[in-house]
Amino acid sequence: MTVRAAVSRGVGMATSIEELLLTEPGTDEVRVAIDACAVCHSDLMFLDGGWPVEFPVVLGHEAAGRVLELGKGVDDITVGDRVVVSLIRSCGNCRACRRGNDVACTGDYALSHRSPLSDFDGEPVTQGLGTAAFAEQVVVHRSQVVPHRDNVPAEVAALLGCGVLTGVGAVTNTAQVEDDDAVVVIGCGGVGLSVVQGARLAGANPIVAVDPLVGKQEVALRLGATHATGPDGLTAMLAEATGGRLADQVFVTTATPGAFTGAAALLDRMGSLVLVGIPAEGVTVDIDPGLLASANQKILGSKMGTARLAVDVPRLVDQYLAGLLDLDGMVTSLHSLDNIDTAFAEARSGEVIRTVVVFDHTGNNGVGTR
Ligand SMILES: [Zn+2]
Ligand SMILES: [Zn+2]
Repeated sequence: MTVRAAVSRGVGMATSIEELLLTEPGTDEVRVAIDACAVCHSDLMFLDGGWPVEFPVVLGHEAAGRVLELGKGVDDITVGDRVVVSLIRSCGNCRACRRGNDVACTGDYALSHRSPLSDFDGEPVTQGLGTAAFAEQVVVHRSQVVPHRDNVPAEVAALLGCGVLTGVGAVTNTAQVEDDDAVVVIGCGGVGLSVVQGARLAGANPIVAVDPLVGKQEVALRLGATHATGPDGLTAMLAEATGGRLADQVFVTTATPGAFTGAAALLDRMGSLVLVGIPAEGVTVDIDPGLLASANQKILGSKMGTARLAVDVPRLVDQYLAGLLDLDGMVTSLHSLDNIDTAFAEARSGEVIRTVVVFDHTGNNGVGTR
């Protein structure tokens, strides 16, 4: 079948909206109509050349939609289910999956070897981040979708596919923040603000949010930070907030190289530096191993919040519906697929929290409007 999709054909090039061919779902795969897909900084990393990708590519991996078709062997999902769509694939059988470490899955997937997307000349179009959700429909592995309760708007559910999952998961799964932990959150984008919310839900105090933009500091305070500052005021504010003790966890949530510099120096004894943002290839940072060892400190990498979609997404939905997790306040703007370059520009500016591409399926394959 054909689908309209946002195709990126090279670093720095404008996106073109094109009709592409999408294959039917194979064994263990599902076809989903996308209702909303948020712009994540990982999309921009590929678009702007920070990470390598084979062009042409369709990006988009933080999405929500409805299941249209099931491939062979899919018996735990129903056509019509409203689902969160993510890039995390888990086979359930490899060593990592058996230990609940879905984000480290080493399983082999048919979709890793052939993209479901091609143009009308038969040339393959890369399925960006294994999802390609800046398109009317996707074909993904069954493990990449999680059904959710009906009363969550698609543009909100989409955030659970990457940014919120990554931020809250870094707190609860990776760092396992506890009551009264002193937390520093460097960067107040969608992921950083999700760390702030996760820290609030975990009972952390103080929660010191750091961002150069005053507007984002204000949002952080609204979402649960007890203190907020630009980078310059951080050391003094943290010392004051903790009575000189410093932080139990420092979360670096941006990909800006400078954000990593000096982050370890904010840690108290036994503290953890939690690396959430993934910078461009080749970025390095100096760490003093002697200081780290003598203070019993840890460095924790946190990919996608060490999340298990089937466990984390339903919990986040429950927290949202209970009014504990503010997701509506994180959606800054909505754009149509045709305006996706505007959405990219807004995300690149750093001044929005999340900008979301929404799809109107009127008249398309019988899928109604939201
Ligand atoms: Zn992402
Ligand atoms: Zn696996």
